[in-house]
Amino acid sequence: MIHFNRPCMTGRETDYIRQAVESGKLSGNGEFTHRCQDFFQQRYGFRKCLLTTSCTDALEMAALLTGVGPGDEVIVPSYTFVSSALAFVRCGATIVFADSCSDQPNLDAEKIESLITPRTKVIVPVHYAGCACDMGRIMAIAEKHNLLVVEDAAQAVDSWYKPKAKDEAEERSVHSSTSTSHFNSSRPLGGIGHLAAFSFHETKNITAGGEGGMLVINDERFIRRAEIIWEKGTNRAEFFRGEVNKYGWVDTGSSFLPAEINAAYLWAQLENLDKIQSERKRIWQRYDDELKGMQAAGLKGLRGVTFPVIPDHATNNAHMYYLLFPDLAKRTDFIAKMKARDILTVFHYLPLHSSDFYRNSCRGHYPLSSILYQLPNCSRYADTLVRLPLYYALGDDQDRVLAAAKEALA
Ligand SMILES: *Cc1c(COP(=O)(O)O)cnc(C)c1O
Repeated sequence: MIHFNRPCMTGRETDYIRQAVESGKLSGNGEFTHRCQDFFQQRYGFRKCLLTTSCTDALEMAALLTGVGPGDEVIVPSYTFVSSALAFVRCGATIVFADSCSDQPNLDAEKIESLITPRTKVIVPVHYAGCACDMGRIMAIAEKHNLLVVEDAAQAVDSWYKPKAKDEAEERSVHSSTSTSHFNSSRPLGGIGHLAAFSFHETKNITAGGEGGMLVINDERFIRRAEIIWEKGTNRAEFFRGEVNKYGWVDTGSSFLPAEINAAYLWAQLENLDKIQSERKRIWQRYDDELKGMQAAGLKGLRGVTFPVIPDHATNNAHMYYLLFPDLAKRTDFIAKMKARDILTVFHYLPLHSSDFYRNSCRGHYPLSSILYQLPNCSRYADTLVRLPLYYALGDDQDRVLAAAKEALA
């Protein structure tokens, strides 16, 4: 059996977990947590990083920090994981779903402005497959309409947005003459929006031992409150830095910080991030080369199948490799044939805009007949996208996946 995913292990994870155990300090915000946070701050220039127990939690912190509440609207792509929307639903906000691009699943920046109303407060770009949304355009729209941007960078570790000359010109026309362009060089994903959330779940490129995440605070205004929300609504972080002589309850919050065991696992992965990324990229490229080769050679089942598109403004962090079938029946057939050969391939997401929970409980005042619920690109990806096994330890098993795909598609 070839699994769809295997959690990444590089060698020193259990050593570091033992070190954490032997240090006698296992609760959160300890030595390994600091090492991981500093790593991201230094390598990517993120202003402030806080490890969390999941990306879902980091998104909940972000939603609390934006201050949205009943009556406010948040623009989220429908083709995403539940958590991107759920965090804002828990604050009582109305979700307005946006469609994906026609050539790749990221939200279509060109359609955002038509969804903005006087109640809109936040845009949540999700960097699907670690591939950058059109952040130049999205930040310009946010600035023009005074909105906050929360990047769902769950899949986007070690990936960049590269500006096009056109975006810089657009930026200059939108920004006032005194503000400097944010986009005269490449920017790491998670370092662009006011806030961003990463996932270290076992299905992502790197993991904090199964579950984990991180909130990135790029906008200074949110740093102090983020630390308080992170530590159960107390100013404990300030106390430990010696900035106050006692700590107490000062705001809302929860226990969002992970235990040191999780941070220790993550630290082992961060030490090997370049190695992990180059191996994933090697696997990704081999899928792309060989499958495109099979299509060029006329393999019947690949007729009409398309491959991942990486826009010019994006880099590829090899988070996933997917195929897009011409229709649902052909995808279903492929998954079944691969399964018969003991290889697990998976599809996702069910469009959030057509979920029962959204329709019944959190669509605000928008009637079901609204044009807002017609998101043809999202629905097409939900029906036709399939992901192939891609993980650090896949190794020679990729031969079997490709051989099985060749048979299944013959
Ligand atoms: C995985 C994922 C999440 C949730 O991450 P957890 O760490 O499991 O909470 C959120 N958004 C997207 C786009 C994801 O892929």
